[in-house]
Amino acid sequence: MSQAIPSGVTIVEHPLIRVKLTRLRDETTMPEEFRARLAELATLLVFEATRDLPTKVLNIRTPLAAHEGSVLARPIIVAPILRAGLGMVEGMLHVLADVSVGHIGMKRDEHTHRPASYYFNLPAHLPDAEVIVVDPMLATGHSASAAITQLKEAGAKRIRFICCVSCPEGLAQVRGAHPDVPVFTAAVDDGLNERAYIVPGLGDAGDRYFGTY
Ligand code: URA
Repeated sequence: MSQAIPSGVTIVEHPLIRVKLTRLRDETTMPEEFRARLAELATLLVFEATRDLPTKVLNIRTPLAAHEGSVLARPIIVAPILRAGLGMVEGMLHVLADVSVGHIGMKRDEHTHRPASYYFNLPAHLPDAEVIVVDPMLATGHSASAAITQLKEAGAKRIRFICCVSCPEGLAQVRGAHPDVPVFTAAVDDGLNERAYIVPGLGDAGDRYFGTY
């Protein structure tokens, strides 16, 4: 990885993240383990990606005394980009309370590598929510950019994007089109091959998660 990382991109560095990502990358890792590690990686990534979420005061009583606690200031919507993004939802739901899950269907044309939307289902409180768009792979960045554009057109105001593996092309695309959207990634790989797959990457995340190869 020789190109500069754009501003607004956080590479989430942690030994556990590196180890889990290595298991995902390994071509001998079978779908059962792939699903488990992807869920765990998603939990770790969302922890870092939500570090700046605003909270408000919640007054409670412990068994011993009154206590000024915290509650998230806004509802959260996790929005996986179908289909591979689904693999990151479960791990995020382990740590996010009161969360809704919207779905964004983006199909990649294998020839043009451009995205086409085929499904968009987000809850009505989208404009009030903190939206977390997830896709394990940020390759060309066109699907992620298009999904974020669709969310904004539907009223979303606060969006962040989480992926496991990215590359300079995808980061430049998303940050160029949406400089207001912070990106969190576990790794920035070398680049794309002629089929727009990330190299070294981990192959087709959807196929490896769903066992469709
Ligand atoms: N989508 C994937 O699943 N893998 C890639 O490398 C690129 C896009």
